[in-house]
This record gives sequence, C-alpha cells and structure tokens, in this order.
Amino acid sequence: MRVPRLVLSAFAAVPLVMGAVAPATAAPIPAATITYDGSATGNYNSANDQGAQIWNGALRNVKFQKSSSPMLRMRTVQSHPSGSHYSGDMRGNGNIVYDINQIDVQLKMNPVRVTAHEMGHALGLYDRYNTPCRNLMSGGAPSDVEPSKCTSSQPSAQEAAEVDKIWASYLAPGRQLTQTEVQAAMADIAQKQAAKGTPCDTGGKYL
Ligand SMILES: [Zn+2]
Repeated sequence: MRVPRLVLSAFAAVPLVMGAVAPATAAPIPAATITYDGSATGNYNSANDQGAQIWNGALRNVKFQKSSSPMLRMRTVQSHPSGSHYSGDMRGNGNIVYDINQIDVQLKMNPVRVTAHEMGHALGLYDRYNTPCRNLMSGGAPSDVEPSKCTSSQPSAQEAAEVDKIWASYLAPGRQLTQTEVQAAMADIAQKQAAKGTPCDTGGKYL
C-alpha cells in the first residue's frame, strides 16, 4: 500500500491539530485523537470502523474517532495508478484512497487488513514489504503467503509500540504542534525518503 512521494512544502501547510490544551493536574493524560470519516467509502465504511477499533485496542497514546469534520478522509475509486494508498503528514492528517479493483479483483485482499494498513500510515508507520504476514505493514506484499491468504488485520506488538512511541509526545488532544515538532516530523520523513526513495514505494506493484 503505497504512500506517494510527499511534497514537503505542501506538508508544511497542513494544519496539524492534535488535540486540547494539556491538563495542569497529574491526572492521566488522554490519548491524542485522530478524527476520520469513511462515510464516502460504501462497502468499506464498516471496514474502516473495524480498522479503527483494531488500532484503538492496540494503542495507548492515540485513538481514532469518527467525525464529520475529520483529519483523515477515506474514499474509494474503481482503479488508481498508485493502487490503494495514504497521502498526508503521517501524523493523522491526510487522505486514504482504496483501489477497489486492486483489493477485490487483483489481490483479493481482506478489506479490514487494507484499512488497518492504510491507517497505520496515518499513524506514522512505513511499509514493511517482504516481511511476514503477521506484520500489518507488509500490506499486499507479505513474504510468507499470497496476499489473498494474508488475512491478519492486527498490528504486531512491535508496530503498536512504534506508533505509541511516535505519539507519546503528542498526547494532549486538540493541541497544535509547534513549528519545531512539524520540522522534526518533516525531517524524519525526508530522511526516510532519502534512504529508501519514497517511504513505501516498491515500484507501484503493491498496495
Ligand atoms: Zn502501505
């Protein structure tokens, strides 16, 4: 599931709203919230919700929540040159496109695995193609089974821990990221792009 090349100047213009003002007391800090809207995805709408529930059950520091004014929007297309993909800042904001032909016809993949995988990108994870199916981020290119037989839609413990680590510094819901944090996130993405080409690109073969 490819993440197209990110345009960093455009990325800088994306408002990064993470959640409310930090509490003054020592009360437990609420998790950051990524609001999403999958209502335009027809049959995939429930798969989006299942993907959100899976991540919500696995994470401590960030949660998905439905909203009509979302940070993350999903839509479906019959076919897309990039296949199914996420584009955005990998800090909750962005868009997910589901390529119906690729998922249902070409690869015959479990839709919930696809939704959870793309949401994994929105949470900050990169692809891990050619690793075992148990890694959610192996996506449509697991090393051990055909994509159609890889039905796991749970992140590995390592993947969940990586996401919690990323979001540990963004705990206060509704707070705006500082310019320094935005720059750090951009630098992280740019570094990975330099090391691997685009963050997730293996030539457009897989979603
Ligand atoms: Zn992917």
